[in-house]
Amino acid sequence: MAERREVDAVVVGAGFAGLYMLHRLRGLGLSSRVFEAGDGIGGTWYWNRYPGARCDVESMDYSYSFSDDLQQEWTWTERYASQPEILKYIGHVADRFDLRRDIQLSTRVTSATFDETTNRWDVRTDCGDQVSARYCIMATGCLSTAQVPKFKGLESFAGRWYHTGHWPHEGVDFTGQRVGVIGTGSSAIQSIPIIARQAAHLVVFQRTPNYSVPAHNAPLDRDLERRVKADYAEFRRQARESRVGFVMERNDASALAVPPEERERAYETHWGRGGLGFSSTFADLLTSEDANETAADFFRAKIRAIVRDPAVADTLCPRDYPLGTKRLCVDTDYYATFNRDNVTLVDLRKTPIEAITPHGVRTQAEEYVLDSLVFAIGFDAMTGALLGIDIRGRAGQSLRDKWAAGPRTYLGLTIAGFPNLFAITGPGSPSVLSNMIVSIEQHVDWIADCIIYMREHAHATLDATVEAQDTWVAHVNEVGHQTLYPRANSWYMGANVPGKPRIFMPYIGGVGTYRQICDDVAAKGYAGFTLG
Ligand code: FAD
Ligand code: NAP
Repeated sequence: MAERREVDAVVVGAGFAGLYMLHRLRGLGLSSRVFEAGDGIGGTWYWNRYPGARCDVESMDYSYSFSDDLQQEWTWTERYASQPEILKYIGHVADRFDLRRDIQLSTRVTSATFDETTNRWDVRTDCGDQVSARYCIMATGCLSTAQVPKFKGLESFAGRWYHTGHWPHEGVDFTGQRVGVIGTGSSAIQSIPIIARQAAHLVVFQRTPNYSVPAHNAPLDRDLERRVKADYAEFRRQARESRVGFVMERNDASALAVPPEERERAYETHWGRGGLGFSSTFADLLTSEDANETAADFFRAKIRAIVRDPAVADTLCPRDYPLGTKRLCVDTDYYATFNRDNVTLVDLRKTPIEAITPHGVRTQAEEYVLDSLVFAIGFDAMTGALLGIDIRGRAGQSLRDKWAAGPRTYLGLTIAGFPNLFAITGPGSPSVLSNMIVSIEQHVDWIADCIIYMREHAHATLDATVEAQDTWVAHVNEVGHQTLYPRANSWYMGANVPGKPRIFMPYIGGVGTYRQICDDVAAKGYAGFTLG
């Protein structure tokens, strides 16, 4: 029921970030209200229930570290946890720390307005709630705004269609159906092998081929679990100080400095191990085009070795962007799925989609008759959820206006002119380039420490200065442009959303380095902020 109330903090979103934030705020003795648009908690793992959804960061890493009891008592079943298991874990955390009572589900925050006379945020929801809060904390997620499919004729389609990011809770049975999947990013790559096994026929519509490494998923190695749990604190410390939020074997050598046979052996070893560690096979894969090309060649050879039809293999080979500059995918049987008789690959570069028809998908070359369509077309990443809310800071300035040319933040955590507003894993922080739980915990802890500081020093507001923000944005850009990342039309660059400004949004400086920067800012009495 709609209500008006005053709290110390409003938190928007009840995924990993919102839940931990709530826990920390409680620990500080602050009253909080969490609003979540979904009918349940879990964020990403509540919404993305498509077949094969699972994490691509290993289970022992992809979990909270804030409670030793929690990390000791929880047991993962697989090397990479599945969506149902992660959701169960999140539910366990919510119950264990009694979080649910402050969370209001099925409620979308529509606006947040800073009142300069009271130094408080006025937060409103689509259920009519009106809440006044000292702190407004956006835990809205980087990949929570699913792209709406905008295909001509979609409304005429006689079959059913689904988005991977809004998958029906009751599941979908594709048995006996002709199914089309549009998109070949991580979500598609995880679901395609499973849908192919169920459907009578599967047509995959590919615009850009992706690089995908085998997961080699398996039951969790119990020896590994014992070793990690014997000193989980040290395991977590290493993750926090690492480049990406989990420890990957590091090789400081250039791919170009070793003989070709040794290079091949190294790639083969990483391919055999599986997972995201592939991109750290050599130090310069993401900074040198020539080095990257050696890895891309290795990939293309793998695809040709797995996929029997040379024309299909050729279509699956990525060529026009460096490996790793779009998020590397991690799969189980993805390429081999194209050896099945019931799978067809359509190259949208050669024959673009003209329209969805009542019967299926018509490309420039032919019409594919389909019973169901799966849109695996991704998200309005990093800024979509924040800009979905009408956020107004000092003097009524709107975030949408401020970010019209792309997001600008100080540390990826705060925005000049929007006092006491925090964005967990916001643009300009390592977020999506890291094990996100590590980045989430770091941001939540930083925000909690900041609130303690403000309380102890009797400050009502904290606001980033424009100078500090400009310097940070310049640094984020500079570091980003030292890499190959801007070379790809990726969602990191906003390139997947027509009309979105092209800016490399995350901070590539590394999780450990970034943590140090944030800690230094705090140690210097919140340098770069005006405290009121
Ligand atoms: P989310 O989990 O996205 O939660 C944000 C919540 O905010 C959502 O529930 C949303 O409904 C809510 N919300 C947004 N706007 C509003 C509003 N206006 N009002 C009310 N509620 C709102 N990361 C990894 O590190 N490793 C992985 O293996 C990995 N796998 C992934 C797999 C998939 C399919 C996807 C989509 C992402 C994956 N990620 C992975 C990234 C993942 O998003 C993060 O790891 C993490 O779950 C993010 O948690 P969060 O709480 O920040 O955001
Ligand atoms: P994505 O990576 O953005 O992939 C979307 C796919 O849809 C791309 O192949 C894209 O092609 C295609 N596409 C988009 N619009 C299209 C259009 N109009 N016509 C034809 N094709 C279109 O989205 P995602 O797969 O959902 O993954 C998003 C991110 O979530 C991942 O990068 C990852 O960070 C996370 N995720 C992780 C996992 C995991 O393994 N744990 C699983 C799923 C998601 P183009 O490349 O040409 O744009």
